[in-house]
Amino acid sequence: MKITELLKSDKLTMSFEVFPPKTDTSFESVKKATEEIAQMRPAYMSVTYGAGGGTSKYTLDIAQNIMKTCGVPTLAHLTCISSDRDTIHQRIKEIKEAGIKNVLALRGDLTPELMLDRSGCDYQYAAELVRDLKESGADFCIGGACYPEIHIESKNYREDIAHLKEKVDAGCEFLTTQMFFDNNIFYNYMWKLREAGINVPIIPGIMPITNGNQIDRAIKLSNSFMPRRFRMLVDKFGDNPDAMKQAGIAYTTEQVIGLYANGIKNVHIYTMNKPDIAKALLENLSDILG
Ligand code: FAD
Repeated sequence: MKITELLKSDKLTMSFEVFPPKTDTSFESVKKATEEIAQMRPAYMSVTYGAGGGTSKYTLDIAQNIMKTCGVPTLAHLTCISSDRDTIHQRIKEIKEAGIKNVLALRGDLTPELMLDRSGCDYQYAAELVRDLKESGADFCIGGACYPEIHIESKNYREDIAHLKEKVDAGCEFLTTQMFFDNNIFYNYMWKLREAGINVPIIPGIMPITNGNQIDRAIKLSNSFMPRRFRMLVDKFGDNPDAMKQAGIAYTTEQVIGLYANGIKNVHIYTMNKPDIAKALLENLSDILG
């Protein structure tokens, strides 16, 4: 089922992101974890694409398995920055043949290697991939990424949002945000997008921080502002894994409730392949989700 169709429902829903294994040896354990998450019946599940395209086969294998064994619609991520056009066309064909209806069209990160040498790479921006997906003739529902605290390479909101508008005009039907820890940043961003004429659904992406060591990496990757309340919680509980997990889930629960209370109908959770975290969140929200 297409995500744009799912989003038309009035029900409050939650969707989950998982990532594929990097090697054959971890395939079974990742498959098991993603099945456990799928059995919780999220609205849909997204499966990431490894940086540099290293896990392209596993992305499809995991997405197909979730769909077939658990009946949960999937969203396959695809990045283009390190690929030539023939490879991307082949990937698009494989996604179509796997029966996957939803694709998150991404550029991928500019790694130090790619900054030094981009020979053999035909793409600069995600909008080009969106156009290729549209022109493939497959009836995909295409999504894209967006950044409430602007993309790390962007100078300001004006430029970042202008480029986002180009991506949407190219055919993106919904957007999923980078993680953020302060909902007000998201609400302000939504206003800016609507003011710029971007009217597609914006799905907030929320990362439960349940481990003190996750913080610095998450903040560095996402460029996210860390509210003082959250920093205090990490300072207090960061060295106590059980307490940090409980506090992190409580913080995410509150963030999600705030989003639902302010009219957001679907929230996407970066589960990091952890069924226990997905389960705890769903339990905390059971009456709200109904
Ligand atoms: P783009 O939309 O191309 O934007 C990248 C930068 O270029 C922005 O600064 C933008 O403003 C600028 N730009 C765009 N068009 C132009 C133009 N015409 N001229 C000048 N500048 C322009 N990475 C993975 O490797 N695998 C994943 O599975 C994955 N999943 C993700 C899921 C979500 C929800 C998010 C938010 C990110 C994900 N990423 C993933 C990370 C993503 O690949 C990086 O953030 C990447 O650096 C940017 O990708 P993009 O698709 O947003 O790029």
